[in-house]
Amino acid sequence: MNALAATSRNFKNAARILGLDAKIERSLLIPFREIKVDPDEVNALAQLMTWKTAVVDIPYGGAKGGIGCTPRDLSLSELERLTRVFAQKIHDLIGTHTDVPAPDMGTNAQTMAWMLDEYSKFHGHSPAVVTGKPIDLGGSLGREAATGRGVVFATEALLAEYGKSCKGLTFVIQGFGNVGSWAARLIHERGGKVIAVSDITGAVKNPNGLDIDELIKHKESTGSLLNFNGADNMDPNEVLIHECDVLIPSALGGVLNRENASSVRAKFIVEAANHPTDPEADEILSKKGVIILPDIYANAGGVTVSYFEWVQNIQGFMWDEEKVNNELQRYMTQAFHNIKNMCKTYDCNLRMGAFTLGVNRVARATNLRGYEA
Ligand code: NAD
Repeated sequence: MNALAATSRNFKNAARILGLDAKIERSLLIPFREIKVDPDEVNALAQLMTWKTAVVDIPYGGAKGGIGCTPRDLSLSELERLTRVFAQKIHDLIGTHTDVPAPDMGTNAQTMAWMLDEYSKFHGHSPAVVTGKPIDLGGSLGREAATGRGVVFATEALLAEYGKSCKGLTFVIQGFGNVGSWAARLIHERGGKVIAVSDITGAVKNPNGLDIDELIKHKESTGSLLNFNGADNMDPNEVLIHECDVLIPSALGGVLNRENASSVRAKFIVEAANHPTDPEADEILSKKGVIILPDIYANAGGVTVSYFEWVQNIQGFMWDEEKVNNELQRYMTQAFHNIKNMCKTYDCNLRMGAFTLGVNRVARATNLRGYEA
């Protein structure tokens, strides 16, 4: 029996002796604060964030946290209570100059508004403590679209290396939430053909290109991608192996793996999701000559505009959307050139180019401060 099981058994015996109410017993047994979700996953995501912020050269480190739940199965008031309790438990661990949470999968501007409100009850109004807030609460213009927009800027920088642009190329997107739907919309705007998309509800395709604005309306009104007038339903498992120029996984981690990598028929993969390609798939795809733009660069647009939001909150000065988008493009394009330089210097692929860039920056700063073992 491990230490936790043994201690809990002793506690339960004592509770029984004392005749404690079951509710009290449960509440005493559950730790007040346990900063643990899936330690390996969160650790990996925190690491990715560290290298990501270094790749785009913004003055942040890396951390990650979350709640293990299925938000779409919860009511709005359940989500609010869950978020507020989470904020109560971590309010003294986060702060404007300590750790600044931002939305990720399953969370949005409303979540950040609740976090801000709960934090402010303890510390006073502190808009810079979270980013990705609603505009009315100090959020940045352009933040909601930022990760998808950054994905598109990154894709354009990559395609330009091959004398190509989005116009006329075919795109397949897995995931149609914040990141996937914005990427799809902006690619569509640029004349790219988004020929297949999927989400948790299913997948649709049209070889001539989907009308993304209409698809978004359809999804909003029916709650599903399926049965869209102007597309055929397709097997979601076929999406990642659908023939296209650019595949953009924008949902879950580990979706490209040993089972499907050799069937992938894309020329380029842009990793909008975090860690969508496992190492075995990475090797198989590289051997096939597929060019992969890695997550720590491709999806860095979100944290970059989070940084802009934080800067605006601290300055108390709001930028217009054009400035946000122009600055984002400047950061993403600069980072791409820096990655390419590392690829040249170390004769490596884009993933290693991005990692060496990020790790080297953090290592240099660590050395300058004086490393103590
Ligand atoms: P989101 O919750 O808004 O959307 C997730 C999408 O994935 C939804 O459309 C959902 O239906 C779909 N999905 C879930 N399971 C699926 C499945 N099995 N098959 C197909 N689709 C599925 O999340 P998001 O913010 O768009 O994040 C998507 C990815 O991008 C995540 O990996 C996230 O970590 C990464 N990311 C997000 C941000 C950001 O700013 N939101 C920044 C960097 C990276």
